[in-house]
Amino acid sequence: MLEGISATTWFPQQEPAECPVCRGARAALSEQGLAAAGNLAIEILAHRQPAALLEAAISALARAVPDGRVSVLVPEAAGRWRVFASSAAHVTLDVVVESDRYPELMEVRRTGAPYVATGIDAAPELRGARSLLDTAGVKGLAAFPVFAATPSAEPVVLKVSFYAVVRPDQLALVTLAAHHLVHRLSAMPATEVAGQLGMALPPPGGMDPASLLNLLPLPALVVDAADKVINANARARWLLGGREAAPGDEPLVLGLAPRSAVEDASHWEAQVAARKGDIHVLAWSSRLPADRRLVLIEPHPEARRSSHERTIRRTLAEKLRELEQANTLLAEYARRRDRFVSDAAHELKTPLAILRSYLETLAEDLGDGLSDQQKEFLQAAAVGARRLQRLIDGLLDLAALETGRSPLVLGPVSSRDVVAGVIGGLRPIALAARVGLAAPPAAELALRADLQRLDQVLRNLVENGLKYTPPGGEVTVAVERRGDRALICVRDTGVGIPPAILPHIFDEFVRAPGSNPTEGAGLGLAIVRRLAMAMGGRVWVESTPGAGSRFFVELPLWTGEG
Ligand code: ADP
Repeated sequence: MLEGISATTWFPQQEPAECPVCRGARAALSEQGLAAAGNLAIEILAHRQPAALLEAAISALARAVPDGRVSVLVPEAAGRWRVFASSAAHVTLDVVVESDRYPELMEVRRTGAPYVATGIDAAPELRGARSLLDTAGVKGLAAFPVFAATPSAEPVVLKVSFYAVVRPDQLALVTLAAHHLVHRLSAMPATEVAGQLGMALPPPGGMDPASLLNLLPLPALVVDAADKVINANARARWLLGGREAAPGDEPLVLGLAPRSAVEDASHWEAQVAARKGDIHVLAWSSRLPADRRLVLIEPHPEARRSSHERTIRRTLAEKLRELEQANTLLAEYARRRDRFVSDAAHELKTPLAILRSYLETLAEDLGDGLSDQQKEFLQAAAVGARRLQRLIDGLLDLAALETGRSPLVLGPVSSRDVVAGVIGGLRPIALAARVGLAAPPAAELALRADLQRLDQVLRNLVENGLKYTPPGGEVTVAVERRGDRALICVRDTGVGIPPAILPHIFDEFVRAPGSNPTEGAGLGLAIVRRLAMAMGGRVWVESTPGAGSRFFVELPLWTGEG
């Protein structure tokens, strides 16, 4: 009836009603035994407190087995039990027994399952205790684990010493009683049972060693004196080959012999057979060698470093890939946006030209026949169309520069000529605006530039200067040499640029608040920057609101090469 019962099958997986152990025991009962079993079950069910429950079970069982002695032993420390309660009056309670004097306890402890010797003569395990048993008149023995605070802890043992050879129906009855206790006690909170029976309490939260091991951030194992693994956390199981220690499996033996024999070593280096071949580990063990040791495995620093490096390299590679993808996307969006803008500008160019010419024809042909208000409308339409045309020209210019469709012709350009040309061309506007326009005398420099485009850059800057400088002010264009480059400065004494938009002033469509909407679209400076860059130069600005601005264009000097 108890053959093949191991620790895992003895401690219940099923509800009592479906329990195969109970069923097997019940089937072996005599009629008288059945009645006794019924009484026992009632006694056991009647108690909610573990201590009272065990005492009631002992006395009920003692009544059912008159020629036996029933006792319950509670684990104290490794290999030591305290007699918690006994049916024999002469047994002193609270006495500590060492398991090596009680082979049946040693067996229960070793296997975690019941130990039964129906006759002591036939049990080789009891040979060493023979004279003791004889003196006590014991003829048969049965010891059952009935509760363990944690799977790896020593169990509470229900023990029956028989003064006659054990009969099968007697054995069935005590087995049934013991298993009733197993069911009942394992349904109670482990901490409560352990606390009431005076056992060392498991850690708060009912953690058993297995879950504690799992909390450790490194591979951890509990091994016995022969390095046999008793318990291991998931990390250690994975490290050592992904083996779950299934019951019946060959026990895993670590072979943690220290490389150098250090007496009482608490940490050492070792070679351990792992999933991917041998690994070199540093292992620590708890000081107390006794018969169980906690071993924490840490990969050798070398292995750890290379694994860190691998992680960093992998993360870096991932980030780089993400960055590349983001860049490709951005470039694609920028390309699409530029294409859309230039396509749209192209599409608008022709109808706008037609619109402008109609407006001009209308103004000319009907000029005299129109009322003042009609003339005003026509005028506003013509201004709007001109502004639109400038915007579209600007957009197309920018798009052509961005895509390289409008290549520049770089050659030597005389600084004096280009400045004189711009100033001469804009003088009428300066006069009309009553703003002074001048270029202080400067040395002649040969710039490496595209004459037309440089003219466009400077004209744009001077025009802006004139536009944003009140009458009485002044705009100057100065040129000087800075090493192998030329610095052109267009300075005005105008309104200046608010600091908030100064850093963005060369971006498309950026205009200072309050700028005259009919004057421009905010594309001029964007084109200026593009052109300067295309000529190998750069632009920047300094400005003080209310005092004026200084736009700088830096260009390479002509060195004789294009
Ligand atoms: P636009 O003049 O057609 O609006 P720009 O790109 O040439 O476009 O100039 C952008 C904005 O920069 C202008 O709207 C104006 O607010 C400011 N700005 C440019 N030049 C000057 C200047 N010399 N003084 C003050 N503000 C300026």
